Amino acid sequence: MDKVDCVVVGAGVVGLAVARRLAKAGREVIVLEAAEDIGTVTSSRNSEVIHAGIYYKAGSLMARLCVAGKRLLYRYCDEHGVPYRNCGKLIVATNPAETEKLQGIRAHAEANGVEGMQLLSGPEARLMEPELACEAALLSASTGILDSHAYMLSLRGEIEDAGGAFAFHTPLVRAKAQAGLFELEVGGEQPMTLACRLLVNAAGLTAPAVARIIDGMPPSLVPTAYLAKGNYFSCSARAPFSRLIYPVPEPGGLGVHLTLDMAGQARFGPDVQWIDTIDYTVDPARAERFYPAIRRYWPALPDGALMPSYSGIRPKIVPPAVASQDFVIQGPCDHGVDGLINLFGIESPGLTSSLAIADHVGELVAS
Ligand SMILES: Cc1cc2nc3c(=O)[nH]c(=O)nc-3n(C[C@H](O)[C@H](O)[C@H](O)COP(=O)(O)OP(=O)(O)OC[C@H]3O[C@@H](n4cnc5c(N)ncnc54)[C@H](O)[C@@H]3O)c2cc1C
Repeated sequence: MDKVDCVVVGAGVVGLAVARRLAKAGREVIVLEAAEDIGTVTSSRNSEVIHAGIYYKAGSLMARLCVAGKRLLYRYCDEHGVPYRNCGKLIVATNPAETEKLQGIRAHAEANGVEGMQLLSGPEARLMEPELACEAALLSASTGILDSHAYMLSLRGEIEDAGGAFAFHTPLVRAKAQAGLFELEVGGEQPMTLACRLLVNAAGLTAPAVARIIDGMPPSLVPTAYLAKGNYFSCSARAPFSRLIYPVPEPGGLGVHLTLDMAGQARFGPDVQWIDTIDYTVDPARAERFYPAIRRYWPALPDGALMPSYSGIRPKIVPPAVASQDFVIQGPCDHGVDGLINLFGIESPGLTSSLAIADHVGELVAS
């Protein structure tokens, strides 16, 4: 049986960031990926926003790793030539009740360590974005967007330069912890067995299912997976905004917001649709809920401008009735299995947090 020091399961942005961290620390790494390439699942079905860290619960892993990850990611993009734009975002209040909430959102963000938050009157916001309808707004100057594919390609290049390797079309199908080693069975075109000392489960949507096939992992510590789809609509009209535009959040979601890609093309969403099985189809009828929500801050949105675009699925580990979840990153102190790291519930802001998640895993491995 072949032996390797570390195996990372999953070549999404999180698995890549973790594998890079391990490879650069001089460890031998193989990344097992069920699909044909890196980043084909949730990591290529998101908004590509570098989040500031505004809303996450104070002290949560999401809050800490988002704020730290954002700084690391901007620096990484600068140092590695990954295209990004620190365009900023406006949270817009369209009535007095929402205007009152902006101050509290700013205070919460600042308590999370988010810099560059600024309250604006309606006229001040319209000086920045003339087509915007709002009573007041909160500017988040540290929010941005990036080319997530260029970022993942850069991570892959660094892993390979440091001696790491990839095995595509290679799903992990079973693992057994024994005497400080894991025996892995991998499927695909060339099924084989492999032994490793460190096993990192970064399988995204299926991380709970992967944890369940690891013999020795206590089933009671594996969360149930739930799927919350987010649908996007693109816009046939050119949206006249250069910053991201978000409504004041409502209970249960961030509201229908506008993000931009690196080419300046606007997309609206994602909304929230709880589903039972993975299905990325976008139902055109869902646009009917988008129009009134968008017109609250962009009254000039033309009729018929929204077109179904793509969707992504949030890897939830709490049911719909629970308002929010945190990242769950388990090491041996949590589950008692030496050499095993599980990453559960890495939904947004997982892309922003990826480098900080990798550092966190690096610390768990070293402890
Ligand atoms: C709608 C939506 C919008 C989002 N927007 C943002 C945003 O703007 N900013 C932000 O910071 N974050 C955002 N996120 C979150 C971000 O996209 C995710 O946190 C991140 O992509 C998760 O990466 P991952 O590597 O954990 O998972 P994935 O990208 O899903 O990668 C997991 C990989 O594991 C592989 N795999 C699964 N099972 C096995 C197996 N048994 N063996 C081998 N390989 C396996 C899969 O094929 C896959 O490639 C968004 C998420 C969604 C759903």
